[in-house]
Amino acid sequence: MTKTFEELGLSKPVLDAINELGYLTPTPVQEQAIPLVLEGRDVVAAAQTGTGKTAAFMLPILDRLPKAQRLSNKGRVLMEGPQGPLCLVITPTRELAQQIDGVAVAVSAQTGHRTITVTGGSRYDAQKKALTNGVDVLVATPGRLIDLMDKDIADLSNVQVLVLDEADRMLDMGFWPSVRKIVRQLKQERQTLFFSATIDQDIMRTASGLLSDPAFVQIAARGSTAEGVEQYIMPVEQSQQVEVLAELIERYFQGSERILVFTRTKQRADACYMRLSRMGYNAQVIHADRNQRQREHALEDFRAGRVNILVATDVLARGIDIVGVDGVVNFDVPSNPEDYVHRVGRTGRAGRKGYAITLLGPDEITPLREIEYLLGKLIEVYDLPDFPYRSGRIVPNPNRPTKRQAHTLFRGMSGGRGRR
Ligand code: AMP
Repeated sequence: MTKTFEELGLSKPVLDAINELGYLTPTPVQEQAIPLVLEGRDVVAAAQTGTGKTAAFMLPILDRLPKAQRLSNKGRVLMEGPQGPLCLVITPTRELAQQIDGVAVAVSAQTGHRTITVTGGSRYDAQKKALTNGVDVLVATPGRLIDLMDKDIADLSNVQVLVLDEADRMLDMGFWPSVRKIVRQLKQERQTLFFSATIDQDIMRTASGLLSDPAFVQIAARGSTAEGVEQYIMPVEQSQQVEVLAELIERYFQGSERILVFTRTKQRADACYMRLSRMGYNAQVIHADRNQRQREHALEDFRAGRVNILVATDVLARGIDIVGVDGVVNFDVPSNPEDYVHRVGRTGRAGRKGYAITLLGPDEITPLREIEYLLGKLIEVYDLPDFPYRSGRIVPNPNRPTKRQAHTLFRGMSGGRGRR
């Protein structure tokens, strides 16, 4: 029996915030993590984006976090307290930082906390002023936070709660030396919450020095995808990819408000986006070469339903926190199997139904098998009825090996999470 938010021990202002956010019942990670965080325990949680993990840490933190000193613009003390921030959240990307900011601001509106989010690309002076005048929660990407520390703008000596969000991603993206440098500035007596899509020995070795007697929260097994998502592969020859994509949209996604299309590279994202636009679709594109304003606009338009198709690369997949994505189309099979799980996790969120369709090129059978091995199951093949498929595509054998048989097949292959 799922507990209610009240039963988890949250206070009235936070319950009001939950009401405002429109959450009815806690998700599994929230049900498990919230009481532990309220108790003051260190927590290691294996939970992917889409499981409600942001609220799982933000709600209980703001429930118990004291308030920092507030100064007026002229430096007069408006409210006594320690120099903020008192809570520090480190996350790998701007998009994730903004998502966390959204939840923190919504809850703070009820609890009276102040939150600031600092990421690369935004202006220093406003951030400096906010930090000096008093802030309770600082959400930051590692690079920008190091900049602020080097400039003596951020004083982290009073941080009581540290959150490391998407720790595995930070490790993969090479942020760990920065994270270590930041953590060295914090006092030992603090609460540390460690969130990661996957928890393996590698991650635990890296984390162990940061945590004290942590409690473990394990939600989805490694490589599992949301239950409400129907997944298919669609074999297609390279030159027909865009045609098949357009046909899919016409036949199955008519009336869909939001479709996410993933490509392997920025160039392919641009090319796919341009073809779709030329065909008259209301599409946008985001990848690492688009500037922050362009990315924000694209995401905002997509969120608001002004744009129906968003073409994206994997780098940004985790940051896309949009409810109501009807379908995910993998224009390319991701070369890292775990990226598949993250892509597919963009749809079917919070209990809704979703579709994930992977176009399978003739040279993509190997990465497909790696994905199926990770999932522990085969993904069903689906062909568009009466579509003039050109020869050259490879339709995988429907009786291809299952996970158990694949075990021998995959020996010698890299398997798990590749360090990039
Ligand atoms: P996250 O795992 O933090 O990326 O959250 C995934 C999505 O689930 C976000 O869009 C949240 O707004 C939504 N969400 C989080 N908690 C709940 C809840 N208890 N009920 C319904 N939706 C939720």
